[in-house]
Amino acid sequence: MKNKGLNTLIKKGFKKLKIDLSKEQLFQLNKYIEFLISENKKYNLTSITEPKEIVKLHFLDSAGIFLKADIKGKVIDIGTGAGFPGFIFKIINPDLDLTLVEANLKKVNFLKLLQIELNLYENIEVFHKRAEDLAHDKNYRHKYDFVTSRAVAPLNILLEYTVPFCKDEGKILLYKGPSYKEELDNSKKALDILNVKLINIYELDIPFLKGDRFVLEFKSTDIIGHKYPRKAGIPKKRPL
Ligand code: SAM
Repeated sequence: MKNKGLNTLIKKGFKKLKIDLSKEQLFQLNKYIEFLISENKKYNLTSITEPKEIVKLHFLDSAGIFLKADIKGKVIDIGTGAGFPGFIFKIINPDLDLTLVEANLKKVNFLKLLQIELNLYENIEVFHKRAEDLAHDKNYRHKYDFVTSRAVAPLNILLEYTVPFCKDEGKILLYKGPSYKEELDNSKKALDILNVKLINIYELDIPFLKGDRFVLEFKSTDIIGHKYPRKAGIPKKRPL
């Protein structure tokens, strides 16, 4: 291993989240950093470019939810960008059946190359699509145990992107900063129209990071109208 300090940070950080990494997982996370930094020079994938910052702000921040929720089964990550949090889940638990959805083609191409770099192909689908479009495909609508999303949109918009993918007994896990309270206040209509209920607010304790990080957990209370999500771009233009 090239960078001992970096490896120590990765191992310690994941250990604090009660995740013991195998040699292969450690190798994959190192490769992820290397590949993200090299591709980021060509395409704008992330504003975080320093290896230790990538570990803290992308890897550990994505993985912190594992202390709170038992994420397994079919998982879809909406607006995954360069793979956060979804790809980190797959490295932690290669048995996950993972779908990554991203509207930006450069990021999707990066994710497909990353799969080759990390040798992770099984049970992963990467879509170059907007959530609003994929959510109307019957093979993906109401099909997931967990729907996740980080840093994609204000809550009232994000609920319209994510809720339609969740199956009856599934959960929607949305990463948020301290503004979540205000966002919840602005989401009453969205919660009502989309038949969804807040069931938990997890405060995450991310190793080596200060700052308030939360994951809001929702569950569906009823099937939602075919109308939702509305056409691509409308949820953002005219939030519920
Ligand atoms: N989730 C990643 C993270 O936490 O690092 C990326 C966050 S980035 C700020 C937001 C991403 O969401 C962008 O890559 C954008 O293209 C994608 N996005 C925004 N709206 C979307 C939509 N309706 N459907 C799919 N992807 C979307």
